[in-house]
Amino acid sequence: MSRDKMTMCDLAEEKDIEEMKIRAKGATWICSECGRSANKKEYICEPIEL
Ligand SMILES: [Zn+2]
Repeated sequence: MSRDKMTMCDLAEEKDIEEMKIRAKGATWICSECGRSANKKEYICEPIEL
């Protein structure tokens, strides 16, 4: 799977903290499933707006 198709939820499983840091900066979306946040809707599996 290519990195940019992965959600924060996938990245967390792989413990890709560096990529997660970039995506979490200025987060505007949060996952209602796993509670992770990101600055793009596409990065979240069940996005709700913050
Ligand atoms: Zn999720």
